[in-house]
Amino acid sequence: MCTRLPLRNVYGTIKTSDMTGEQLHTTQIRKNLFQVELETGGYKNLICSYVFKGSKVILVESGPTSSVLRLVEGLKELEVNFKDVQYVAITHVHLDHGGGVGTLLKYLPNAKIIVHPRGAPHLVNPERLWVSAQEVLGFIAEIFGKPEPVPQERIIPITEGIIDLDNGGKLAVIETVGHASHNLSFQESFSSGVFPGDAAGTYIPKFDVVVPTTPPPFYLESALASLDKLIDLNPSVLYLSHFGEANNAVQRLKDYKMQLQLWADIAKDGVSKSQSLEQIRDRIIAEDKAMNCIIDFVKSYKIYSKTMLENCILGFMDYAKNTSK
Ligand SMILES: [Zn+2]
Repeated sequence: MCTRLPLRNVYGTIKTSDMTGEQLHTTQIRKNLFQVELETGGYKNLICSYVFKGSKVILVESGPTSSVLRLVEGLKELEVNFKDVQYVAITHVHLDHGGGVGTLLKYLPNAKIIVHPRGAPHLVNPERLWVSAQEVLGFIAEIFGKPEPVPQERIIPITEGIIDLDNGGKLAVIETVGHASHNLSFQESFSSGVFPGDAAGTYIPKFDVVVPTTPPPFYLESALASLDKLIDLNPSVLYLSHFGEANNAVQRLKDYKMQLQLWADIAKDGVSKSQSLEQIRDRIIAEDKAMNCIIDFVKSYKIYSKTMLENCILGFMDYAKNTSK
């Protein structure tokens, strides 16, 4: 853990941008599966969408409003006919995962949105979501952009189910709440890879490290139960929205459970001693090897400092306060 890795092309030698020499947006990661680098706010390796390309096209994650054009460019690059996009499956409605879906639908005349029923009302009327995102995320909400509403009739609210892919493939929908009360994961049948949304943390490919993504309100017990659910699926690989493909999926999920437990224990102890956010943060940095080894990197990006060193710790402090009542 914590070795600096060269950014790798995970599917043989084919990287679409290599073929033309131009700086393009998509990478092939499986036979019919592509990743689109959204480069939201100019940040690389922050947020991506995934595209199953075939006679029907299925997307996982729209990403935020501000990078919808980037996703659209990615679809063009993959020579996707916009009419063939059948579903956009979003893991949850937070701005960075599903915030752009209302804008994206304007390009995709036949696409329906797969979302958890608890997230669906926030797609139809995103006003409250936008206000709370501005409160929690501050300047980051502006980087992601304001969500546009989604017509009710284009939403398919589900917690479990199967979506048919080309060539007999299936994409299973799994309810994995905890990070949010409405997080879904998806598992594809070709190589049993899982798209966990934010249920499995943030993966930093450069360091091969996972760190929690736990803004308030965070539900630890549900998050741990969801991780058990994903472990039981025995996935081969994780396709993370933040960011990219991570192997050793089962071990990573187990490690993430331990990491969440460690942060929770530190937060509970800190809250019981009336410690400040900064004191609890410093203890986490000292005691969590993963966080410790990427701390300079995290501190060098305002967006990571705000999310990882503030919001995620607030999520645990909030949880600790609620459980100590
Ligand atoms: Zn996220």
